[in-house]
Amino acid sequence: MTALTPGHAPQQPDWSDPDLLDEVRRRLAALRPLVTEEECARLAESMGRAGDGRALVLQGGDCAERFRESNPCDVGRKLDQLYHLARGLGAAAGVPVVPIGRLAGQYGKPRSEAWERVPDGTVMPAYRGDAVNSPDADPGARFPDPLRLLRAYECAERVLATVRASWEGREAVERAHVSHEALLLDYEHPLARQGSAGRFASSAHSVWIGDRTRSADGPHVAFAASITNPIGLKIGPSIRPADAVRLSRLLNPEAVPGRLTFIVRMGSARIRRLLPEVVGEVARRGTPVVWLCDPMHGNTMRIGTGRKTRPMGAVLEEVGAFVRVLRSLRRHPAGLHLEMTPEDVTECVPTPLPFSALPPLSRYRTACDPRLNAEQAAEVVERFVSVL
Ligand code: PEP
Ligand code: MN
Repeated sequence: MTALTPGHAPQQPDWSDPDLLDEVRRRLAALRPLVTEEECARLAESMGRAGDGRALVLQGGDCAERFRESNPCDVGRKLDQLYHLARGLGAAAGVPVVPIGRLAGQYGKPRSEAWERVPDGTVMPAYRGDAVNSPDADPGARFPDPLRLLRAYECAERVLATVRASWEGREAVERAHVSHEALLLDYEHPLARQGSAGRFASSAHSVWIGDRTRSADGPHVAFAASITNPIGLKIGPSIRPADAVRLSRLLNPEAVPGRLTFIVRMGSARIRRLLPEVVGEVARRGTPVVWLCDPMHGNTMRIGTGRKTRPMGAVLEEVGAFVRVLRSLRRHPAGLHLEMTPEDVTECVPTPLPFSALPPLSRYRTACDPRLNAEQAAEVVERFVSVL
């Protein structure tokens, strides 16, 4: 099983202390599962309903979750936002909505560049998520520390306690589940557990595979294929229709509705040209998938050499194009995958605007990608409903 050796896997940190890493992996393997197989199965059933049009999905949260925000107060605010948007979407669309957080484990980030220039001009290793290093502008803080994997587990456990508490007493809305990108194989493999139906990822109810690590022959796809949880796969503009077909068969060989979600993130400029053939080929030759729209990751731009932002015009346009393509091919546009925060931030910008007229991004707080604030997230959900 050499393909599963993290040393050969893309986007893995250079932990550089193999003995400490081994020790951390042993400790993770001995810890209690963070989620139960029953909870995962319950989400799988909900996803099955989303697959055939009886439900919608609203998946959202930070690009990079922070350890210091694992307290009940911060998590409570994020859950309030998620439930609020889900309730609104459900009321407007007249179907149940499954809320899924990017929560309780969204601590590992893939990076296109291994190095980053911080505002004072110093170049240092890129931030790879709180489970790996710190975003502080200090080269020492960027050193990958395997002990952070244990802190990730502890923080996820704290977040999950707040998520479970939120399941009590909420009416007219489904319970929120937790999900993250299964990027860090030194976290995911030790936390995989034997259940009654097979091995499952005990790190979250659902995990997804990112656009950079979705090679059909790679270790991330092999991991996703090996677990029974409902799983997601990000598909960006470089996907070929034949790859999408192959991935659907690899990841959902028994054609179980709800088992596999394709999270489309092609960008507003390319989705109309690329998505129809992908959806058409998967419908003809692949196995069933749930189709979600991530209108964030294909619409990222950099202001000069500085911060990343996302123009709202492009985000809203991609949502509309996604729904129209799916509808025209008689598939169900099952919902949204958003990077959002209840905080009053300016990270995504109202466009179209020339650069000179862009707002100063004065409340820019994300540790990684630009998020929608509460008002912007509501606008995106409204756009989705209005074209449905
Ligand atoms: C993300 O969801 O933060 C992410 C990195 O997405 P993608 O894999 O689609 O680029
Ligand atoms: Mn992101």
